[in-house]
Amino acid sequence: MARVRLENVTKRYEDVTAVDDVSLEVEDGEFVTFVGPSGCGKSTTMETVAGLTRPTEGRVFIGDDEVTDLAPKDRGVSMVFQNIALFPHMDVFENISFGLRLRTYDDDEIRRRVEGAAEIVQLEGMLERMPDELSGGQRQRVAIARAIVRNPNVFLMDEPLANLDAKLRVHMRTELQRLHRELGTTIIYVTHDQAEAMTMSDRIAVLNEGRLQQIAPPLTCYNEPSNLFVAGFIGSPSMNFADGTVVGDGIETPHFDVDVDRETLAGATDGDEITVGVRPEDVHLAENARSIEAASDPIDVRTDVLEPMGDEVFVYLLLTESAERSMEEDPASSSDQLLMSVTPDTEIRENQTVEIVLDRSKIHLFETQTGEAIVHGITDRPDRESESTTEEVDS
Ligand code: ADP
Repeated sequence: MARVRLENVTKRYEDVTAVDDVSLEVEDGEFVTFVGPSGCGKSTTMETVAGLTRPTEGRVFIGDDEVTDLAPKDRGVSMVFQNIALFPHMDVFENISFGLRLRTYDDDEIRRRVEGAAEIVQLEGMLERMPDELSGGQRQRVAIARAIVRNPNVFLMDEPLANLDAKLRVHMRTELQRLHRELGTTIIYVTHDQAEAMTMSDRIAVLNEGRLQQIAPPLTCYNEPSNLFVAGFIGSPSMNFADGTVVGDGIETPHFDVDVDRETLAGATDGDEITVGVRPEDVHLAENARSIEAASDPIDVRTDVLEPMGDEVFVYLLLTESAERSMEEDPASSSDQLLMSVTPDTEIRENQTVEIVLDRSKIHLFETQTGEAIVHGITDRPDRESESTTEEVDS
């Protein structure tokens, strides 16, 4: 087991900066996932740890040792990739033990390791099967067992589940978590699938255009995204965003206003552009708003399409009549639409006028220009607070 540290790692190809000044540390025994859209530099970052790519600048450490210039085989890492390359003419035992046989371990040691790894990935009794007698998931488990027998300090996994069907992917997610618990080995995992990242990892490192956006536990990225990119990428469906402007003690967006104490907007002045973000589950029908401690003022909307998902219903909301009209020719701008998620027992129809409120304690504010987060959850509300205090005293 070992920790992994990247120090200002940059990788440039002729006209592309694949990895741009990434520094991060993966603790000994930690499961960290690199996640981001295709082309964001996840694989290249991992390849600098594997030794398959030499950084243009920066240094890589595994344990206490700098490995920037070491060959992959000398780094104590094992890799599992998306494309499972099993030798078709070798049975499972031979496939798993292939790397060990190259290293001339004795037969007893090889058998002991292969059987141990087969047990961990639940392939006992299948060691004599040929690859074409295995399902996709079983083949992937052979590839993982082949990585396990080498007893690595660090596992590197690049989209290992991408070629499996949806149901098997979900199953293998739990298997990988179990594997991590049993082995306790440091794992660096690469995926573009944020659900995979959220469910398996101790921490996720969100990358975009080669730059590290945030590295934090999954729920921290979800609840306190460091910037607009993370806010939009983590969470499905995505967070709603509205373009806003600072005016007096609040933010005006094209269709609703958000009261915010100026102190919360540290340093902002009238006219500054601020993006308001709210997740679909933090948008509520006004009639159900009693359970929310800090509801916004009601906003009039028209329901558009309903998407029943079984456990919840996604309700697409149009904030203006004109938005509804323009939808026919052109998609409305994102500021004209809002997605709300409600429980399946909610009485709601398409094309209905309703009042909604936003849970203020779950509103996120971002500097539009830089994308940086300003605040997660608005708790202050100077004018209204004094009003409600008065009401409480009166009653
Ligand atoms: P991801 O794994 O997030 O999809 P990659 O790390 O594979 O992204 O690639 C990041 C960027 O670097 C992409 O723009 C890709 O085209 C570019 N890139 C990766 N490898 C090479 C290479 N060998 N030569 C040139 N460009 C590359």
